[in-house]
Amino acid sequence: MACKAEHDVPLGVTRTYVKQVETGHYPSVSRHFQVTRCNQCEDPPCVPICPVTAMFIRPDGIVDFDREVCIGCKACMAACPYDAIYISPETNSAEKCNFCAHRIDQGMEPACVAVCPVDAILVGDIGDPTAEVSQIIARGKVEVRRPEKGTSPKLYYANDTTFVRQRAGAGARTQGNGLWSDVPAMEGIGPQRATTPTATMAAAMLAYDIPHHVPWDWKVSLYTWTKSIAAGAFAVPALFLAGGASTTATLIALVFLALTGVLLVADLSHPERFLRVLTRPQWQSWLTRGAYFISLYGLVLVLALVAPGAMRWPGIVLAGLTAVYTAFLFAQSKGRDLWQNPLLPMHLLAQALLAGGAVMVLLGGSPAALGIGLAAHLAMAVSEWLVAHPTADGTRAFKNLVGGTGYRVGIALAAAALLLAWAVPALAAIAALAGLLLYEHAYVQAGQSVPLS
Ligand code: SF4
Repeated sequence: MACKAEHDVPLGVTRTYVKQVETGHYPSVSRHFQVTRCNQCEDPPCVPICPVTAMFIRPDGIVDFDREVCIGCKACMAACPYDAIYISPETNSAEKCNFCAHRIDQGMEPACVAVCPVDAILVGDIGDPTAEVSQIIARGKVEVRRPEKGTSPKLYYANDTTFVRQRAGAGARTQGNGLWSDVPAMEGIGPQRATTPTATMAAAMLAYDIPHHVPWDWKVSLYTWTKSIAAGAFAVPALFLAGGASTTATLIALVFLALTGVLLVADLSHPERFLRVLTRPQWQSWLTRGAYFISLYGLVLVLALVAPGAMRWPGIVLAGLTAVYTAFLFAQSKGRDLWQNPLLPMHLLAQALLAGGAVMVLLGGSPAALGIGLAAHLAMAVSEWLVAHPTADGTRAFKNLVGGTGYRVGIALAAAALLLAWAVPALAAIAALAGLLLYEHAYVQAGQSVPLS
């Protein structure tokens, strides 16, 4: 409540909250508490993914944000493995705990520390070995959340650390409501429910939690689909046909690239600031790099209408970059384990080949590229079953993916399209595009389906 008051945090979002989970069977029950917030990571993935440097590290190590700069792309929310960031319903910008930097600058303690009646939260300079916090850490009986993410959190938990290691009830059951709160299901995902609680969490029940939102909704799913068509419609005929891409194919690529741009801008919570991705770029961010690939590809497509021969290879290269960059953006989204698949760039290329092949068929061309693209897409989808998902979250997200109707229908349509490609090519092309759309939506949403805190 001190945090809410200090920062005027609106209802429905939190910078910090105390998660509560109950374990055991009556009468041997316990309630566990975890103060949950930004971990002020040493190597914070929320910073390099921000396309406009709205998330930044201060010289004193505090990870801070600038709501006046933020464009509301929500990439930082996908990158943070701790669910520490929200979009403020009042400012429409990404916000989080910033360690009460304004109070620190005045020599004061953060508001939550000042108000705590029992010194349960300690702050100090971990660079100073004589500081009390440094000595507690040096004694070694502390844990950080999700150390496997490599973010080096500077928020340490002492004492009830077994519970922190278990991800604060990541496998806990929920009944949709708790001691002090109602926890709605994640949009489009279903109830937050562990599929296979481990033995140590067998009787864990969420008593207090906050809603966990899916930051990237259907607009991002649809953008991956329109982007595949934009890339493939030009690159596939340019690669497979002696005469290169026709004017019609180039125009189709341009239209779908424009749709891609519209969807990207529409997904921003500050759409009026979208040009900042280009005007104040943060080059480490794959969102920035992607925006430049898309812009340059659009320029080359326009030039290809007047000089198709000269623009053939620049167009092919930029189409490839436009198709695959999202795989690297998803890899930068450290919070989303399903997306940490090293084969994803190849899969996105296969999807662009599929989409371009489908467009070629609909324009009266050979179904060969469509067949190759469908086979490659299905092989990559099968490889998801074969690669090990090294984390529990990755496994849960994969189960959510393959258990969904969209995924199954999407794969079935792709398989049917492959069988029909040479017999009824136009029908196969439509089935392939519809199946790809369903698959993309299932993949993007399943990747975000596991609550991070
Ligand atoms: Fe905070 Fe998350 Fe960024 Fe780490 S990654 S500094 S926890 S917002």
